[in-house]
Amino acid sequence: MPLESFIDVSADSHFPIQNLPFGVFQRKGGKPGVGVAISDLVVDLSVLEELGHFRAPEFQDQKVFSEDSLNKFLALGRPAWRKTREILQRLLSAETPTLRDDAQLRKKVFHTQRDVVMKLPACIGNYTDFYSSYHHAHNVGTMLRGPENALMPNWKWLPVAYHGRASSVVVSGTDVHRPSGQIKSPDAAVPTFGPTKSLDYELEMAFLIGPGNSLGKPVPSDRAIDHIFGFVLMNDWSARDIQAWEYQPLGPFLAKNFCTSISPWVVTLEALEPFRKPLPLQDPEPLPYLRGENDFTFDIHLEAHLQTSAMKAPQIITRTNFQNLYWSVAQQLAHHTVNGCNLKPGDLLASGTISGAREESRGCMLELTWRGANPLKLPNGETRKWLEDGDTLTISGWCQGDGYRIGFGEVAGRIIGSDA
Ligand code: MN
Repeated sequence: MPLESFIDVSADSHFPIQNLPFGVFQRKGGKPGVGVAISDLVVDLSVLEELGHFRAPEFQDQKVFSEDSLNKFLALGRPAWRKTREILQRLLSAETPTLRDDAQLRKKVFHTQRDVVMKLPACIGNYTDFYSSYHHAHNVGTMLRGPENALMPNWKWLPVAYHGRASSVVVSGTDVHRPSGQIKSPDAAVPTFGPTKSLDYELEMAFLIGPGNSLGKPVPSDRAIDHIFGFVLMNDWSARDIQAWEYQPLGPFLAKNFCTSISPWVVTLEALEPFRKPLPLQDPEPLPYLRGENDFTFDIHLEAHLQTSAMKAPQIITRTNFQNLYWSVAQQLAHHTVNGCNLKPGDLLASGTISGAREESRGCMLELTWRGANPLKLPNGETRKWLEDGDTLTISGWCQGDGYRIGFGEVAGRIIGSDA
């Protein structure tokens, strides 16, 4: 008997009872609180918590849902996350009368998503961005060094990453200001200062850390999932001209840290479980600390849509899949902590641009237009080498089940001119 809710959920909704992603929402004039999405509704967990629905040993006598972030809940770990899901699936099930038959209670517990503002799901203390798609690394390396030297010698031995900037991670819907910086064209003797002329998106996914580890205590790869709460969509906005001049020898800095957008709903590992796939064979075989028993990835369809201010409807410009990542999330987490680096509740670890082998699966303009050499042709006759002011870039993603979807909603951002 498939799990069914008393709430109507259409087959293409991202939020059926099998999903139940967590986020932080705020009603007009109200305080922020933790909610769970079902269909086009938000379930207010603070109300259910006050009524005593989450009194179980897993919650360690803590109240965690009247908060403006998921951090307290994240710190409790998987037993509390599982228990919350179990309680909610029971309360929302077609079989359970508690909410189904109590109109007054339903009024207190449910809000429509239209009537709330979504906030960042967590207070993000640290943000790390990996570089784990083979095709992305290979395409970018080919542009910079030619196909013979596309991958650096370390790339297949360790999940390459840089430490990003947590303060400029924003929730979907936040406008993106075109950054200014130093730019030096290859034929110029000296750099100039001005707004970036090559603003780009990067289609990525990211996961939020749960309990985390103590300083000096690495997390082995087969324990990594104890620390992974769930996933969001991410757009790592990038200024390619600023990046080209500044990145050597220490990597990305101002080309990346002006803004990073994430989707508001965090989809849990439990919801993604039916879409788990074995990690493809890695050659060369990684060092022992990166080898996990039954390491895995997920079958998640991902899309990027571009809408210019002159277009009536968005156009799909990327179609890719989470399975295009070479390194697994368990390997990323094991590598991040292998030197004893401590991860904390709410830390954000991102995948890097998720490009596949096909041209349509390239996850950024840099690859799609091959550094501007082949501009994108849009259906209304416009062309784009890079993102322009007024453009809106939206990333969406979901797992396709039998008659239902486990979706991530979307992460969207509109480009605002540097003088706006
Ligand atoms: Mn990135």
